[in-house]
Amino acid sequence: MNSLMMDSQLTITSIMKHADRLNGNSEIVSVTADNPNHRYSYKDAFRRVRQLANAMQTVGFKPGDRIATLAWNDYRHFELYYAISCSGQVCHTINPRLFAEQIAFIINHAEDKWVFTDPLFVPLLEQLQERLPAVQGYVVMTDKQHMPQTSLANAHCYETFIADQPDTFDWPDLDENSPSSMCYTSGTTGDPKGVVYSHRSTVLHSLVASFPDAMNLSANDVIMPVVPMFHVNAWGTAYNGPMVGAKLVFPGPKMADGETLTRLINNEKVSCALGVPTVWLALVDYLNRSGETVESLKNVVVGGAACPLSLMKEMDKQGVRMNVAWGMTEMSPLGCCNTPMDWMQDLSEQEFDVQRVKAGRLVYGVEMKIVDADNNELPWDAVSSGTLLVKGPWVCSAYYKLDKPLLDKDGWFNTGDMAAIDKYGYVTITDRVKDVIKSGGEWISSIEVENAAMAHPDVQEAAVIGVPDPKWTERPLLIVIPREGVEANKDSILQSLQGKIAKWWIPEDCAFVSEIPHTATGKISKKDLRQQFADHSLQ
Ligand code: ADP
Repeated sequence: MNSLMMDSQLTITSIMKHADRLNGNSEIVSVTADNPNHRYSYKDAFRRVRQLANAMQTVGFKPGDRIATLAWNDYRHFELYYAISCSGQVCHTINPRLFAEQIAFIINHAEDKWVFTDPLFVPLLEQLQERLPAVQGYVVMTDKQHMPQTSLANAHCYETFIADQPDTFDWPDLDENSPSSMCYTSGTTGDPKGVVYSHRSTVLHSLVASFPDAMNLSANDVIMPVVPMFHVNAWGTAYNGPMVGAKLVFPGPKMADGETLTRLINNEKVSCALGVPTVWLALVDYLNRSGETVESLKNVVVGGAACPLSLMKEMDKQGVRMNVAWGMTEMSPLGCCNTPMDWMQDLSEQEFDVQRVKAGRLVYGVEMKIVDADNNELPWDAVSSGTLLVKGPWVCSAYYKLDKPLLDKDGWFNTGDMAAIDKYGYVTITDRVKDVIKSGGEWISSIEVENAAMAHPDVQEAAVIGVPDPKWTERPLLIVIPREGVEANKDSILQSLQGKIAKWWIPEDCAFVSEIPHTATGKISKKDLRQQFADHSLQ
């Protein structure tokens, strides 16, 4: 017997058509290099998407071509997401903060045919273009008035590129399994690796990410992705925003600027914002200094790195609930979300805090297990910590052009994270496997030590790495940026960890720095810290 349901394909085109028809009046507000306050409707956006698709066809884009973007979050980037993927090309978003060599590697490895770029990155591309033989042309995402002088070969101005194009386009019927977009992982080890998303994986991820116990999105929301559109499709918000019909607010290059974020939140009545902890540290710091508030903001999805409890408490004071999420580029990115459950109301404040900093519960669609070094499955008892494996329709099965099998024989993907899972299914990420500190044969969770240190009032930011120790092989070293204007005291900070973490996890030493290196996606770069402190001798 066969099912009698229609074989409708799950494509990004279906999201676009739905949003155009049903949510056409929802607004998209952007900060761009040429306009700090650009606003238009979904209807306007998709009209320009059709013009863009026509322009792409005119210059010869073919199905399957990889088209690169080097751009911040704004409406033109949004238009590219839809015009490229819905006309059968692959939207390859590139992180412009990577080293120039990595960007050249990525463009060549993906064999990108054209590059769309913010004016900001034109000098970078000019310097690289000799090394990008496959690139046929460049489009600078600006208008004629702001178009920079450039030595880029076959360079176009975005607004001129689309200006005279018809605003109707016959969208192709795409197979839901065809590639829609790609994103390279930042390559903390080895060369960056390409993750290729499909229309189907994108639609399924968008549906589930919108659930009430995930990002909790509705047509009444105003969503501000402060996670870049060059990083895992801004965690899917450029798709699930239109899917539910929410207003979108794009902060452009002003991602970590507390003042701009506050202005956008208040002017546009942002209700839901998403980003890594560093961004929210900047926001809280600005709010505390200025005395301003963010009344409309209710739901902040924080992920990409562990969120310090102290940051959550600061945001509580602003009436903002921080919902932790966990995922990765290879998972589109969503795996887990931590939203408040009714039963948590009966917990003591301390128990509640323990629960809320966790990475959350698995969303429907992803399966997970934790295993020991011999691949034996570990119990969900909150204490057994092992390597986290996942599978699901939006988890990658291979890296682009890498022949090495990625999955184990049962189809599990190794996330490279260490985790413990409690009986309710709440996941605690204890570390990345490569950042784990092994002291006297036992693991120390750098994340938990960092979290405890962040609670000290003099600590602006904290990181913990393992440094060699003759007796214990490795011991944790706490590295701290003191809060501005305070005379931070090492003993006071180390003392404050007593009772918060296991005694033998407490570092013997604390180093003060004025800066902690971050990766291109805004996370603490443990690799760089380990290099920086390679010769450090513990006091
Ligand atoms: P990269 O950091 O290499 O750019 P991703 O952005 O894909 O790659 O990062 C995914 C990793 O970020 C996860 O494997 C995990 O180590 C870390 N991460 C993401 N969310 C959380 C979280 N809520 N708590 C702790 N770590 C997290």
